[in-house]
Formats: sequence, C-alpha cells, structure tokens
Amino acid sequence: MSSRRVIVVGGGAAGFFAAITCAEAAPDAEVMVLEKGPQFLSKVRISGGGRCNVTHACFDAREFTSRFPRGAQALLAPFKTFAASETVAWFESRGVHLKAESDGRIFPVSDSSQTIIDCLLRAARAGKVKLWLNRGVDQATQLAGGGFELTLSNGEKLAGDSLLLATGGCRSAAGGHLAVSLGHSLESPVPSLFTFHIGTPWLRELAGISVEPVEASVPGARLRESGALLVTHWGLSGPAILRLSAWGARVVHGLNYHFPLQLNWLPRLGAQAISAELQSRRQRQPARLIVNTPIPPLPARLWEQLVRAAGIARETRWAALSRAAQHSLIQQLMRTQFQVTGKSLNKDEFVTCGGVRLSEVDFKTMASRICPGLHFAGELLDLDGITGGFNFQAAWTTGWIAGKAMARRGGS
Ligand SMILES: Cc1cc2nc3c(=O)[nH]c(=O)nc-3n(C[C@H](O)[C@H](O)[C@H](O)COP(=O)(O)OP(=O)(O)OC[C@H]3O[C@@H](n4cnc5c(N)ncnc54)[C@H](O)[C@@H]3O)c2cc1C
Repeated sequence: MSSRRVIVVGGGAAGFFAAITCAEAAPDAEVMVLEKGPQFLSKVRISGGGRCNVTHACFDAREFTSRFPRGAQALLAPFKTFAASETVAWFESRGVHLKAESDGRIFPVSDSSQTIIDCLLRAARAGKVKLWLNRGVDQATQLAGGGFELTLSNGEKLAGDSLLLATGGCRSAAGGHLAVSLGHSLESPVPSLFTFHIGTPWLRELAGISVEPVEASVPGARLRESGALLVTHWGLSGPAILRLSAWGARVVHGLNYHFPLQLNWLPRLGAQAISAELQSRRQRQPARLIVNTPIPPLPARLWEQLVRAAGIARETRWAALSRAAQHSLIQQLMRTQFQVTGKSLNKDEFVTCGGVRLSEVDFKTMASRICPGLHFAGELLDLDGITGGFNFQAAWTTGWIAGKAMARRGGS
C-alpha cells in the first residue's frame, strides 16, 4: 500500500507537535518536517530565558483565552480539546516533569529548555518522523489532482498529500508568502511583547527598581494594564508593560511607538485614601522630611523622585506641605506622565501580532477553508498571547489538532 505523505513546513514547537501527533495517530503515513534553519526548535531553546515556559497553570479554557489579545474567540474550542492540562500530561507521560511557579508559569523541573527539545526529538524519532534541516520551502503549489508540490531552497521538488504550514510569526509580510501563494490573506504583522523607551532622566536614575502593582495606561487609547513594573536603563519593562504592548500592539504601532504613558503607582489606593495617608503623616510626623518617608510599598528612591517631580523641595517637612503641593504630589502618585519614544525587545522575546486571517481556517481541524489539504498551526496565524507560556500553548494546541486531522485521510 502506498503511504500518504504529510509534509510539515517549519521545525518549531507547532510543527513538531503536529508531526508527532500525526505520526502517532497514523503510523502508515509518511510524516516529514522541513526546517529551513540549521537546527530544530531554536525558539524553544532560547525561550523563557533558556528554561522554556511550556504553558501556564490556568485550566479553564475561557480564562485561558482571556490572555490572548488576538485569537481568543477562535482558540476557545481548541483549548477545550487540548489545553494546559493536556500539555502537562503529554510531557509527563513522556518522562518530562514540570513545575508551576507562584505566578502560574510552568517550566520543566530541570529548568532547561533542552529537556523539552530532547523530548520532542525523541518522540518524533519514535514516530519515525523524517526530520530535515536546511530545507527551506520557497514555493508551494496545489496540484490539480490534489496534493502539493514544494520547491525547496536547494532547487529540489517534493510532493505531498497534506501540507501543514507552521513557519512561525511573520515579522514581515514576506514571512507569510507560502500561505498567500495558496490563496490566503494576512492580517498585517506588527510586533507584540516589547518594552518602552522613555528618556526622562529621573526615571533612568531608578534603573533596577521594581514596583508592584502599578497601573499603566495610554491616555485616549483605552489601554490599561496592572502588574509589576520594572525600571530599566532605557525606560520601562515588566509584566504590566509587556501586557500593555500586547493588547495595544496595533494602536502603538499606529502611533509609531511615540505616545504618552500614564502610571498610577498606588492603584490600590484611591485619591481619598492617598490624601488621608498624607494628612496622617502631616499630623503624626510633622518634623520629618517628606522625601524620607515613603508610602508603602513604594521604594524609597522612587518616592524621592516623585516628591521632587511634584515640585516639593528636598528639605520640606510634612508640617510645611501646602495644599497645592499635596495636590501636585497626589497627581504624581496617581498620574505620572511619561513620553514613550520607542521600543525594545524583552530579553529577545518577541511575538508577532498578525498573520494568516483566522476566518480562513477551520479551528476544529486547523484546515484551510480555501485550499483543500492545507493546514496551519502556531504563530503564523493571527493569534498571539501575553507572556507567561500562552504562546507555546497555542502552538501545542493548534499543532495537536492539525496533527490529528492530518492523520485522518482527507484531513477533516
Ligand atoms: C526569545 C523568545 C523567548 C520566548 N519565550 C517563550 C516562552 O517562554 N513561553 C512561550 O509560551 N512563548 C515564548 N516565546 C514565543 C514562542 O517561542 C513562539 O510563540 C513559538 O515558538 C511559536 O511556535 P511556532 O512553531 O509557531 O513558530 P517557531 O517556533 O518560530 O518555528 C517556526 C519554524 O519554521 C521555520 N521556517 C520558517 N519559514 C520556513 C520555510 N519557508 N521553510 C522551512 N522552515 C521555515 C523557522 O526557521 C522556525 O524554525 C518566546 C519567543 C522568543 C523569540
């Protein structure tokens, strides 16, 4: 019996998961992975600072989707089928022990992404998946009688019955050219998950401090996120900023990464509570210098800068705090304004907002609604999550569903 050939383009998280799932479910099929680079799973290797944040300890599908600025609705049913608990079981059943950290991120107990790579390579080899490195796919053509012909970067031609595109986030529209050549359209790609450049000298003097929680917002853009904030040598980072960059990826791209940012350093206290706090200091410690008596949990260095930014002189004591100065201090504490003047990657982490239009894909099977026999998985699609393991989970889930579908003759 002639075996069906399933070709997976892209040897990343999604491509490997799909290939392994397909090979395990259809041992008669010939499954191959074509990777253009010199190594497989290169993003898995560098992910999570080399530890690989495999998924997130959130086991409700709807709640999980709420961490996806793009793709939440399309991913709901897939996450009901294969989500974080299935990922954990998948790796555990193959001998990889995982642990959840206090913030919900799940890592291998080894704290090494190599453990995940070794597991995926082992599973692919056990499933007799053919693994090809340095085989970029330059062109894909749908054949009249069904199936596909691929032209590889070395000029070779290769035919297959089913095709999965798992080529990762397209940093530019060129990255999605295979999907486009097969009739698909792309939502224009822009970066997600980045940190903000801010030139304000007093902020830069605070490099290294972190504050939690802080509420960051972009006035006029309905963008607001809370969480830990980290001051860096170039501006601001930390979960609150990364989340804001993800939810606002298109908006701040449209502003050419130049926009006002507002910070509320004490989001748990309202204006009245802050005012009462200042009033009580004035009464309890009138002789103490304001700069030396921060409101918890603000770090002393930050407090000092906020007091100065409010125009209050260093030597001012609580007893001498005027109404106008108090008002100005409350403004600083609740609405410090910075001007963002650019962006940087967060520890090289980068996710693409944009990609293959979701309405053109059937998320029950990850099959193309346009081109029979074609499937998609991973970041090539117009879906992306915030930081914390959500992006890999989307790759595992869509890869698993595509793999199962391709294992069935006809791929549906
Ligand atoms: C530094 C960094 C750290 C990250 N850390 C985390 C983390 O800890 N947790 C998390 O959830 N997410 C993390 N992410 C995001 C996560 O890595 C991606 O969302 C995920 O790798 C997407 O998987 P994928 O298989 O769709 O794409 P990729 O992993 O990008 O794989 C696509 C593969 O396709 C290959 N390819 C492309 N075009 C072709 C072609 N024409 N022919 C053949 N091969 C081709 C590429 O070379 C690549 O190997 C991180 C990202 C970065 C950059």
